[in-house]
Amino acid sequence: MRLLLIFLLLGFITGWAAAQPVGGPATVQPTAFNVEAATQAYLDTLTPAQKAKSDAYFEGGYWLQLWGVLYAIGVAAVFLTLGLSRRLKVLVARLRWPALRTLVYAALYLLLAWVLSFPLSVYEGYFREHQYGLSNQSFGEWLGEGLKSLALSVVFGSLVILALYAAVRRAGRSWWVWGTSIVMFFLVLSVFAGPVFISPLFNKYVPLPASPVREAILSMARANGVPASNVYLVDASKQSKRISANVSGLGSTIRISLNDNLLHRCTPQEVQAVMGHELGHYVLNHIPKMLVFFLLLIGLGFWLVDWAFRRLVAHFGPRWDVADLADVGGLPLAVALFAVFSFLATPVFNTIIRTNEQEADVFGLNAAREPDAFAAVAMKLSEYRKINPAPLEEILFFDHPSGHTRVYNAMRWKAEHLHEK
Ligand SMILES: [Zn+2]
Repeated sequence: MRLLLIFLLLGFITGWAAAQPVGGPATVQPTAFNVEAATQAYLDTLTPAQKAKSDAYFEGGYWLQLWGVLYAIGVAAVFLTLGLSRRLKVLVARLRWPALRTLVYAALYLLLAWVLSFPLSVYEGYFREHQYGLSNQSFGEWLGEGLKSLALSVVFGSLVILALYAAVRRAGRSWWVWGTSIVMFFLVLSVFAGPVFISPLFNKYVPLPASPVREAILSMARANGVPASNVYLVDASKQSKRISANVSGLGSTIRISLNDNLLHRCTPQEVQAVMGHELGHYVLNHIPKMLVFFLLLIGLGFWLVDWAFRRLVAHFGPRWDVADLADVGGLPLAVALFAVFSFLATPVFNTIIRTNEQEADVFGLNAAREPDAFAAVAMKLSEYRKINPAPLEEILFFDHPSGHTRVYNAMRWKAEHLHEK
């Protein structure tokens, strides 16, 4: 499921997601400028209650990652040890062509795995978001979008699975090399088509409406070689209260999308600071670079799945009615093994993304030249991202720099530019 999630979400992975604005001064100007003191002054704008809530939300996310992988193993157990997979195989055995059997099994598997995972998804995606005041959706709206994602996942996911099984059956032990190439093809295609065909299914994207903010944004975009026609406004308030912006697409479909929460809840300087960051992703080609890193990791993941699958099936294959990797009845096991790999590789995924985010932050500070606005937005993220984690905690769990790191970087930049404007 993680792989499918990566497919659907990669377009948004460079997003600058944030929470509802919290109280605090728009700027903090100590008289004798000291980077540490200026950073601390920003951090102190958060009340103990706000900090406790934000820490609880974010740290709860660490546990959700663990429950997520355990739940995925549980789902695989329902398919394999309770005989659901066996029944599906009997059902599809009536179909005439082997490829059609694989395709239908995969589609039914994706559908049933979604149903089995629903209790965790509804808690994580709906109830928990409301509990922390981050969602703007009714249950019906949330479910409607979930069903749309499910339809996309069943249609495209089963095609990817069909192609992967073709590789397993034709290439034998070296399937994972072919499998990685197949994933590369679908991944590039989905990132390319995402902004044009997938995102508009969920939100409306329009050119930025005329305003002084728009002029300032487009001027900075032009100065950095980004065409104005590639900057959009998205109605993200439909789903969430979070401030966000992201870069999505590839080649001719690449674009920057600022969300309406950002425009409505931030000062023009803050919008400019976020836009500088997004321009960084665009200009530094972060999407193609991340694709390369992700493919290397997926290749490693497939190789490890192959290794573990063979060992497990040698012992439990007869009990689970799974003959070998080419047997589609082993799909729930392969998916669970990939989920375990993704879980263990999370710090690596996070570090790849966080490194890009850090680069975009530095680019944004230089492009927008608004260190205080940048720090103010970093503070606004705190409602959903722990503001001041331990260094190791940031490396393991953070896919963006922490608020503390961001404010510190902004104040460091400011200290070196005090006599300019
Ligand atoms: Zn970013």
